[in-house]
Amino acid sequence: MAQRAERLGCETVQIFSRSPRGGKASALNSRDIEKMKEMFDRYAMWPLVVHVPYFLNLASADREKRLASVEILIEDLGRSEALGAKYLVTHLGHLAPGEEPESPQAIARVTGSIQDALDAYHGPVKILLENTAGQGREIGWRFEVIGAMLENLPADRVGACLDTCHAFAAGYDLASDRAVEATLREFDRCIGLARLGVIHMNDSKGECGSRLDRHEHIGRGKIGVEGFKAILGSALLPPGIPGILETPQDFPEDDQENVTMLKSLRLQV
Ligand SMILES: [Zn+2]
Ligand SMILES: [Zn+2]
Repeated sequence: MAQRAERLGCETVQIFSRSPRGGKASALNSRDIEKMKEMFDRYAMWPLVVHVPYFLNLASADREKRLASVEILIEDLGRSEALGAKYLVTHLGHLAPGEEPESPQAIARVTGSIQDALDAYHGPVKILLENTAGQGREIGWRFEVIGAMLENLPADRVGACLDTCHAFAAGYDLASDRAVEATLREFDRCIGLARLGVIHMNDSKGECGSRLDRHEHIGRGKIGVEGFKAILGSALLPPGIPGILETPQDFPEDDQENVTMLKSLRLQV
């Protein structure tokens, strides 16, 4: 992974510490970890970000299911620490069938789950709550909701991850200079830019407000080149926020093209 990231010209990396789709996590090999850390130092790649598996549901109304998700979150916090990661990005989960969108009960369940994990894990890895596109029964597409969750969680241990595709699909325009400024101000008002740890840089196949979680290659979606230039050049963003690509891989060269595209846009701002 570290070798491949270096070849692609990455400056930071996000990984899964286990299969994202399920099953028991295999033990981490300490020699592999040491080798990876050495390479990261040599290539000046920092920070390492870990993403929780997709099947977690921290909002589940079923207590057993919710606690099983909390267990995985705690386990992944430990694995992230062993890997030397700075952040663990987590999705928030899904509402119960028939539950009203962004329901206060579901918000409280997510906050409770995160607090449960914090009570069990006391290491340095920071949890980042990722905004969603609001597709289906997903919770956490409105910035106010992420803000309400974070308000009750310690700022030194829990922050936010902004996914550009998800925000755009949720109705926060990012396709122009003015739109990016307005959206980041709204993020600041609801969540606080000081709590932003990572940005997931993904273009969007769906229109603004479509509530479709469909990532597109940088510059080829509805956010487009102007939007990403505005994001990369925004004076509102705190300096040094890592940007992670979660763009599609339709062809083997796609990752390289997306990394190169983002870096060239950064030079143009
Ligand atoms: Zn994401
Ligand atoms: Zn997504």
